[in-house]
Amino acid sequence: MRLSLIILTLVLFSCEERYGLYVDDRLEIAVDDFYKEAESRGIIYPKNVTVEIKKLHGLIGQYNRDTNTVTMNADWILPKLDGDSLNYNGVKLAVFHELGHWAGKRHRGGRSIMNTNPDFGGCKCGDFVGTMQLYNKYPEHRKEILDEFFNH
Ligand SMILES: [Zn+2]
Repeated sequence: MRLSLIILTLVLFSCEERYGLYVDDRLEIAVDDFYKEAESRGIIYPKNVTVEIKKLHGLIGQYNRDTNTVTMNADWILPKLDGDSLNYNGVKLAVFHELGHWAGKRHRGGRSIMNTNPDFGGCKCGDFVGTMQLYNKYPEHRKEILDEFFNH
């Protein structure tokens, strides 16, 4: 009886741990969106990544393959987590970019979440800020941007 209670507790605990490791509560919506968008395209990724918020110098985010951890820069991301949908899209695409590295994607050109070319989309705005602007201002481009991201 006691053993089965322990086993039941372990089973319940492992069901609760949805990502295997740790996802910062404030980024859970973006991480959920990543898995949902992937699954809607028939891509199943393992839920074993750590996603955290910490101070980084000169980066929006980074992925560390050794620790299997995506780290988003607190200075960049925390001011954007205020409920504004435009800001949320920025957070979402930044998290997608780093999860893209986790999924083995590399930087590339064109209209891509994985593009860090400052001239992206003809706007001189640095990194993938151009992608965020396109995603925010032109909802008709969102599916195409996400398709490009997940299908490469
Ligand atoms: Zn990158």
